[in-house]
Amino acid sequence: MGLFLKGIRLPRKVATLDLVEAPLPTRVILPLRQYIGEPARPVVSVGDRVKVGQLIGAAEQGASLPLHATIAGEVVGIEEHLDHRGTTVPSVVINSDGTDSWVDDTGEEMGSLAPPEILERIRGAGVVLKGMLPIPLASDLLPPDQPTTHLALTGEKVVRRIDTLLITALDLEPALLVNRYLAQTGTDELTAGLSALRAVTGAGRTVFVVDKGSPLSPQLTEMAAAQEETTTIISLDGRRFPIGLPVPLIKAALGREVPLPYGHPRDVGAALYDVDTVISAARGIRGIPQVDTLITVGGGAMATGGVVRLRIGTPLGALIESLGGFRGDPVKITTGGPMTGMAQWELTVPITKDIPAVFAFTGDEIELVGAYRECINCGLCVKVCPVNLVPGVLSLYCARDRFEVAERQGLFACIECGCCDYVCPSRRPLVHLFRHAKHELMEGRR
Ligand code: SF4
Ligand code: SF4
Repeated sequence: MGLFLKGIRLPRKVATLDLVEAPLPTRVILPLRQYIGEPARPVVSVGDRVKVGQLIGAAEQGASLPLHATIAGEVVGIEEHLDHRGTTVPSVVINSDGTDSWVDDTGEEMGSLAPPEILERIRGAGVVLKGMLPIPLASDLLPPDQPTTHLALTGEKVVRRIDTLLITALDLEPALLVNRYLAQTGTDELTAGLSALRAVTGAGRTVFVVDKGSPLSPQLTEMAAAQEETTTIISLDGRRFPIGLPVPLIKAALGREVPLPYGHPRDVGAALYDVDTVISAARGIRGIPQVDTLITVGGGAMATGGVVRLRIGTPLGALIESLGGFRGDPVKITTGGPMTGMAQWELTVPITKDIPAVFAFTGDEIELVGAYRECINCGLCVKVCPVNLVPGVLSLYCARDRFEVAERQGLFACIECGCCDYVCPSRRPLVHLFRHAKHELMEGRR
């Protein structure tokens, strides 16, 4: 087992693991791109009546995904709309007719499918791999006869087969709950999804990572026992952040170092997916399009917290209202958790497939970034950086627009975990400076 000694220890923000079903929204806004890639092409027009699961956007290229109606009703707009990343995306707007009627042809049996068919079904269901860089799941899953590696981005031709399917019940950060909840409840879909992903990746063994002290469902425990020669369960401290992010997780679980920058789990022979993704894949293989999503809702300003299931496209403000609104004055709302989430200033942004959480914080819970001070070279950021950067020095180059120098110092190896921000006594907005520098460098290369 590898070591993961850096990072920080964080409290959990939400105590309950109960599932809350959000009511059906009266309107959804469905961006035709909810991942990094090309948008789908709308195949409906304003005035069309649609049912849940009906195709409303067709994928035309490898880097795009089909999109499905998430409520039944009338298409009332196809227009540009702001998403939670702050970009405007062409979107389909549907007003509910209150019936929740579905198209007829969903829910086929999985049967025994060959890997290309499994991949095709996952792509057809529009399943997105959540995470810091959300992409179509089918683009990340490549069959064993087509091994590839992201190291090719560096110009090096490397072929690496997957030997390990790493499934994690840890969320991106300790305050998030969805994967822990799903691993505790366990379903047939999870076990079916695991078999399918093993077939697609060609992995000879499965390593299942669970949160220390958080029980695994009896069903999963039995499955692991029945496959003891090829399945291992290991427990890690989920409050240790950023252990839920891919690079530290692979190091901690498998003892393998993903090459940075630009590295990918595949480069070290691993395919890494969380429990939520495995279940979405299983549903996709059965022909059920991704129309709903599970997210963590938390923060002291929210009246209701926990794991919430809701329809994709529900506007942020409508979701908060349907959960009882605010119980305190929110000073900051994020999509994503306290460490890795993105601050929102528009309650009309829709909840998309790539959003893992919604948090609303009171002034007592967070310190808003104000004027920051000079670096005092205390070294605390170096002590916690999980990828061994020197964030204080990097930030000096970024703040002075010396982006190329920052790149030579390892800027693109930064996984944007925010540990350095968290500990910095000068309250320097380090991740913000790094994101800005990366953006400027990428824009300059377009
Ligand atoms: S420099 Fe990047 S990877 Fe290192 S602690 Fe800061 S945000 Fe995390
Ligand atoms: S923690 Fe802040 S003050 Fe200390 S070295 Fe890093 S950037 Fe400088």
